[in-house]
Amino acid sequence: MSTKRDYYEILGVAKSASQDELKKAYRKVAMQYHPDRNPDNKEAEEKFKEAAEAFEVLSNPDKRAQYDRFGHAAPGRGGYSGGNMNMDDIFSNFGDIFGSDDVFGSFFGGGRSGGGGGRSRGRGVRGSNLRVKIKLTYEEIAKGANKKIKVKKHVTCTTCNGNGAKDKNSFQSCGTCGGSGQVRRVSQTFLGQMQTVTTCPTCNGEGQIITAKCTSCKGEGRLYGEETVNIDIPAGVGEGMQLSLSGKGNAGERGGAPGDLLILIEEEAHPDLQRDGLNVAYDLHISFTDAVFGTSLEVPTIDGKAKIKVPPGTQSGKIFRLKGKGFPSVNSYERGDQLIHVNIWTPQHVSSDEKAMLEKLQLSDNFKPQPEKSEKGFFDKVRDIFG
Ligand SMILES: [Zn+2]
Ligand SMILES: [Zn+2]
Repeated sequence: MSTKRDYYEILGVAKSASQDELKKAYRKVAMQYHPDRNPDNKEAEEKFKEAAEAFEVLSNPDKRAQYDRFGHAAPGRGGYSGGNMNMDDIFSNFGDIFGSDDVFGSFFGGGRSGGGGGRSRGRGVRGSNLRVKIKLTYEEIAKGANKKIKVKKHVTCTTCNGNGAKDKNSFQSCGTCGGSGQVRRVSQTFLGQMQTVTTCPTCNGEGQIITAKCTSCKGEGRLYGEETVNIDIPAGVGEGMQLSLSGKGNAGERGGAPGDLLILIEEEAHPDLQRDGLNVAYDLHISFTDAVFGTSLEVPTIDGKAKIKVPPGTQSGKIFRLKGKGFPSVNSYERGDQLIHVNIWTPQHVSSDEKAMLEKLQLSDNFKPQPEKSEKGFFDKVRDIFG
């Protein structure tokens, strides 16, 4: 099926290669096909990516074992992140793989500009994520809810619009890099003289420096404050689920991207109803006489009250089902039911008159239990109802 080349073949190593040998082999292939040495050469770029993927898989003992057993058809092959690696990922991994020695740290760092096309660093520092808990009633979960909550967090400084500068005259082109955000230098490597490009350490790649800081935020570009966040919660969520609002977390520093707001759902207990997945259980207590004569009554549901009929001769333990009166599913059109469990209330105290009447009834054959003979046992019945 797959036309992919064998990972060992790509790196030119034996199946028994040690981690050290893998590293050396990868280093060699990566040098050969590196974009800086092969500008505008698509084939070299493909080979370069192929090598990165091969190394990514083989350098991980778990992935390597899986690859050895199943080859490219390994289960969860999509999980070989190598297949989705972009140039930036590959370059940023070099630091981890080879350390930041001169040859690989800065040499490959330079590739970031060649392969990635300009500075891949954004401005400033990304804000952190925030987590809040939201408690919802069954009714809110059933219908979905809109909540406005006040979140205490870092917000963008409105005085400087987050850039941290006093005013527009407070910027100056960075002297170290001349405004490009990158510095070039020539170093001696075992491959000969090589020009390397790295992010400018003075301006962190931003190309300019701030000469006077914003007085409101002291140059940070953000302040501690509060924001009212509007949260739309879909119907059918449940205890422990987490929603994520992108960009509603802490503001970044000096114009950096904001973090996310993570919302943890908690269910508020209901006084009468109990959730069981999509279904709702309700314990109904009726009197002995209502059970004999039958009655109609109202029961609470997550969607207001519902009328039900209790037929004459209803046994204790009977379960009535209100179809579609349960919770909606958060990710399908499915909907649960409400299950009403009948309990017949046995009087705890009786007067002497009542006692006399009951003693008469006690003698009647109608009052002797005559359970229905059914091939189905208790658990079969439960399965019938709950599916
Ligand atoms: Zn400011
Ligand atoms: Zn600079």
